[in-house]
Amino acid sequence: MKTKTVIVIGAGIGGIVAATHLARGGWNALVVEKNARPGGRCDRISRDGHHFDTGPTLLVMPLLYEAEFSALGASMHEMLNLKRVDPTYYLVFDDGSQLALTSDIKYLQEQLERFEPGSYLGLRRYMAEGRRHYDLGIEKLVQRDFRKASDFFTPGNLALLYQLKPLVNHYQNMGAYFQDPRLKAAFTFQDVYMGLSPFEAPATFSMMPYSELAHGVWYPRGGMYSVVESLMALARQAGVEFSFNSPVERIEVKANAARGVLLSNGERLESDAVLANADLPYIYQDLLPDRELSARLSHKRYSCSVISFFWGVDKTYERLGPHTLFLAHDYRENFERIIRDLGLPDNPSLYLHAPRRLDPAMAPPGEDTLIAIVPVGHLSENGGQDWGQIRDEARGHVFRRLRSLGITDLEAHIKFETTFTPLSWRKRYNLVKGSTHGLCHNLTQLAFFRPRNRHPRYHNLYFTGASTHPGTGMPTAMVSGRLSAQRIVDDFQMQD
Ligand SMILES: Cc1cc2nc3c(=O)[nH]c(=O)nc-3n(C[C@H](O)[C@H](O)[C@H](O)COP(=O)(O)OP(=O)(O)OC[C@H]3O[C@@H](n4cnc5c(N)ncnc54)[C@H](O)[C@@H]3O)c2cc1C
Repeated sequence: MKTKTVIVIGAGIGGIVAATHLARGGWNALVVEKNARPGGRCDRISRDGHHFDTGPTLLVMPLLYEAEFSALGASMHEMLNLKRVDPTYYLVFDDGSQLALTSDIKYLQEQLERFEPGSYLGLRRYMAEGRRHYDLGIEKLVQRDFRKASDFFTPGNLALLYQLKPLVNHYQNMGAYFQDPRLKAAFTFQDVYMGLSPFEAPATFSMMPYSELAHGVWYPRGGMYSVVESLMALARQAGVEFSFNSPVERIEVKANAARGVLLSNGERLESDAVLANADLPYIYQDLLPDRELSARLSHKRYSCSVISFFWGVDKTYERLGPHTLFLAHDYRENFERIIRDLGLPDNPSLYLHAPRRLDPAMAPPGEDTLIAIVPVGHLSENGGQDWGQIRDEARGHVFRRLRSLGITDLEAHIKFETTFTPLSWRKRYNLVKGSTHGLCHNLTQLAFFRPRNRHPRYHNLYFTGASTHPGTGMPTAMVSGRLSAQRIVDDFQMQD
């Protein structure tokens, strides 16, 4: 039988993983990537001995990684040199109070009881619910492919309406466990990873704080980019070919089939199947002819964006933990300014990452590598946002927050700075609206309601990645890659 060929558009996590599964199954897989390197959003900048993970900085949901590495015939623990990050986060509140989220139960209990007597018991009950949500959510929603309505609307899944609390608001649900707003924030801020505000996210997402505390947040030596390097090693071993600096300009279609791709250098490549890993709404908008389908996608909800600062610093700030999160007291307003007004809050919550605390090789001796991430609205339709001004305001907020920790001299010690705004996210990775997490994960855009991983008209055009099922995140992109590859294999087996 003739070897089947697939062209994968984009060497993001989903694309690399899908191509590897297909190559292991005997397909000829070619990945064409617009950038000079693989990884997509999980990218790395290196300068003068400073190494920056430009996207993901947290290895969360390690059990999913383990399962996905194992599906690729490899061991996560052998491929990644992992260290558990404990405490995971240092949370800093506006009133000066701090909370270290740690697996040291006694220390965690002491801290929580100082915030609110009885809250440790509340956390234990919340964790029990989070565990139920995690176990059921991963098994019944994340790991499953919903190819048709009957895969999703089953009597078994009906019970999930009660078990996973999808119709209950996450923040409101916190009232059953804590009264102190700081604690409610401490165990819901992770919703922003889904592009959602806790004031609209389903309580189902308690699975994330649960997994962070129970399974841990980890750090691979060399940073998150070493996950990309490991996946690339597996891909190359399986025989996947890569072509970098090769932007696809168009997907060639005829009748109800995709024929291949047209590269921006004019080269035409043909294949039996095309698998698009670039952001799904971008594919519909820019690479395909159907205006109607792409217009429908433009009405969907998109996640927020972020402004990121990458600083090479000529001294170390040992008092900064690896992951510090400043949580604003006007928590609700913060989300409203970002999601509803597409702006920057007056007093934004923000995140600071100091990777040298976890791996000394991330900065030269005696120096620091710092990353600050400030969530902001995504690009507006009318382009009325002044990103230069918003970036400068965001930078000022980071320095202000650091002053509250006694760090007053950072500005003077920055050797160089690189910044990403929503415009950068769009330009570098073709993310529609510069939305860092792609399509939102609200109820009407989850599971069966998320765009399918096969095009409704072109029967051999498939999708994988953050804006497809199961959604954003490194481990979920690996799941997505596997599910899409399986779909391709099943479809072609039926045709043979
Ligand atoms: C700031 C930030 C922080 C994050 N933090 C975390 C975290 O801590 N933990 C975590 O698990 N996840 C995190 N994520 C999410 C995670 O990075 C993504 O969900 C995941 O990497 C998405 O992978 P993907 O498969 O969708 O591919 P993408 O990363 O979207 O890659 C798609 C690839 O397609 C390429 N491409 C686009 N257009 C074309 C074209 N025309 N021709 C050829 N190639 C093209 C792009 O260049 C890119 O390489 C974060 C993301 C961001 C942005």
